[in-house]
Amino acid sequence: MLSYRHAFHAGNHADVLKHYIQTQILSYFNQKDKSYWYIDTHSGAGVYSLTEGYATKNAEFESGIARLWNRDDLPESLAEYVNVVRALNPDGKLTLYPGSPYVADQILRPTDRLRLFELHSSDSKLLQANFAESGRRVAVIAGDGFAGIKAVLPPPPRRGVTLIDPPYEDKNDYDYVIDMLHEALGRFATGTYAIWYPQLQRAEAKQLPEELKKLGVNSWLHVALSVQSPSADGFGMHGSGMFILNPPWTLANTLRETMPYLVKVLGQNKGAKYILEEKTA
Ligand code: SAM
Repeated sequence: MLSYRHAFHAGNHADVLKHYIQTQILSYFNQKDKSYWYIDTHSGAGVYSLTEGYATKNAEFESGIARLWNRDDLPESLAEYVNVVRALNPDGKLTLYPGSPYVADQILRPTDRLRLFELHSSDSKLLQANFAESGRRVAVIAGDGFAGIKAVLPPPPRRGVTLIDPPYEDKNDYDYVIDMLHEALGRFATGTYAIWYPQLQRAEAKQLPEELKKLGVNSWLHVALSVQSPSADGFGMHGSGMFILNPPWTLANTLRETMPYLVKVLGQNKGAKYILEEKTA
């Protein structure tokens, strides 16, 4: 029984980090004429209302996207991400927030393809409805992304970006990510894989970046944004990270420039900080 609904968290600081990096990776892929596939193993519903329903419960977006919304000093690459959110809110009021499938749909070109997995029956129906008019360019698969990825790798153009963004409410998700990546890299070693993870006190969350380094991929980038110090009671998410296998070579430099800005704008106390590490081939 799946209980996680991403709508509760839409637009929070973790979504900002994830979708910002997603825009950077996809824009880099667009620089070459050759088409590519975007695969989302855990897609969510695609688009979220910030003014009604789940997202209003804790209003997590207020300490996330809302803090960037009216800034006039955004670094260029962050402005690119905020512009994707603006495209969904043309009247200038922040009322809708894009999930990763929508972000991808905005950036991918007509010849690129989206393959979107979502297991929760309500969210997969919403996702299907959100992409009902997209034709063959987008396929929504109402099923398990951990298992389903086998069927879409390697993508026919031999170029691809996979976002892996499970809820991690089930602690087995940490192992499933590693198992899935062994399988995925066996089928498509040159693909770019972006793995999101939460910063929690739980041992599995702390170890995930180290486990990802052990996959033996020659080129990776790890970035994490802590918006506060870990809480004294050991509960709650104090930040999140993205680990990218085969990242764009330009990404580390871009992040070196923008992460201090994100710490300043999204930081909630003196414990706010970022980590940036990379291995290059
Ligand atoms: N990637 C989305 C975004 O950035 O907008 C958010 C995804 S949310 C963190 C995780 C999603 O994974 C939830 O919608 C949940 O229902 C779904 N889910 C959980 N287990 C899954 C599985 N094994 N395969 C596919 N989807 C799953």
